[in-house]
Amino acid sequence: MEDLPQLPPEVWVYILSFLSTEEKHTVRFGCRQLKVLIDQPSLWRNHTVMLCDLRRYTYGFWDMLRHRKLTRVAVRHLRRKEWRRLVKFLPTLSAVVFVDGGRKYKAKYMENVAHFPGLKDIGVRNGTWEEPMLGSSLTSKLQERLTHLSVCNVRLPCCAHFIQAVAHLENLQYLLFHQQGEGYGLDTVRPVPCEVFHNLLLSLKKLKHLSWGMRGEPPAPLPDNYLSPSDPESPGVPSYGGPALTSLELVDYPECILPENALQSFSSLRSLTVRYRYIREGIECRLASWLKPLQQLETLCIVGGNSLAAYTTTIPSSVSRLTLRVAITLKDMDSIAPKVPALEHLDIEQNRSSGSLCRRIPMLFPQLKTLRIRFFRREPEKDLLSLHRLRHLVRLELLVERSFILRDYLNGHPWPSPCVQEHINQLRELSQNRITVITTMRRRNPLRECDCVWEGDWGGRLSSSLRRKKTVDLFLF
Ligand SMILES: [Zn+2]
Repeated sequence: MEDLPQLPPEVWVYILSFLSTEEKHTVRFGCRQLKVLIDQPSLWRNHTVMLCDLRRYTYGFWDMLRHRKLTRVAVRHLRRKEWRRLVKFLPTLSAVVFVDGGRKYKAKYMENVAHFPGLKDIGVRNGTWEEPMLGSSLTSKLQERLTHLSVCNVRLPCCAHFIQAVAHLENLQYLLFHQQGEGYGLDTVRPVPCEVFHNLLLSLKKLKHLSWGMRGEPPAPLPDNYLSPSDPESPGVPSYGGPALTSLELVDYPECILPENALQSFSSLRSLTVRYRYIREGIECRLASWLKPLQQLETLCIVGGNSLAAYTTTIPSSVSRLTLRVAITLKDMDSIAPKVPALEHLDIEQNRSSGSLCRRIPMLFPQLKTLRIRFFRREPEKDLLSLHRLRHLVRLELLVERSFILRDYLNGHPWPSPCVQEHINQLRELSQNRITVITTMRRRNPLRECDCVWEGDWGGRLSSSLRRKKTVDLFLF
């Protein structure tokens, strides 16, 4: 530090905030002053630490977490003694996510979370519960505390009972439920019964975000009013707009399960994500009619599904943030552009049929502030430089498909390749450094991103050089 400029600590913290987690850990080893600076809580806000085998952590490690004011953890399976350790050393936990426990759990396992008085946020992924996950005593303890709950790919004894318990969590603002089968050895996934789902929607009056998934097997149509419970005070009138619900995500619904007017009650929706798993032949695309009533929609994300041409005409003009994980042609882009004149954030894929997207984008979407392109099969070429014509663009993310990375990694070429890096440098120059170019996948948020929604595959993990360092395996996320 003696050789470095004398700067106020706040300035140092600001500079260090630009580092990745791995870089922060490397810098932390530099000297005692840097260690103190790196452990400033502001640098670790919203960070989730992955903990496994709690016996090996030293007092110094727990001290470090406390200095950073870390209150979010991801854990795999915890033994009874490990639970006690966690309560002792991190009593202020606000969020815990269980990932890949890989065992069969009983109700009492979950009751350990009640020992954290400040716990507001629980996630459970990829596990099997032999007994109800939310028993009545745990539900009553969490009833007022819990604001966020996400459960994905968890085999439960009875989904309907689970959802009935969730309906009691009156302060819930965020709910993610991606259904898995019930009991053992059954491949069928029965949807949560309509009346149970309606009771949930009507009970959770503070719910802002709902991510609802069903790997419907076999696919059978749900009732027309499945997403539109009637107001109990005026029966028969579909009135549910979700008093506070502004964000909806549908995961893995085959097209034939939800009716054309499925979203008619959601006219106040600001954000819609639809993640298709597969499309059945002969079933008409319903997205066009789902989008029609959503005239206040600002964020739209479509992953997979039908060809774009089936619904581009009904994309609401209010959309300013658009993510498309579908094959895009230049013709599609031409037809989308007039529909979304206020588009500021675009996230798309460049594939073989896209042609020269980069050359076309500045003409079609001149208001763009951020742009994210994922390249398939070939890396960006010189037409990348055309993006400097986007006068408002400040952030550009260039990513590549995983197989692309592996192939290049084997050949000893990193991403971005020297050629792409040269284009990036030129683009920065042309824009007079207005555009920040990012070439790594953003970090996964283990609390919010289950396996169904996380699209990253390599960037969220550590680079191979860092993986060799002992300490870093504590911070997988
Ligand atoms: Zn999921």
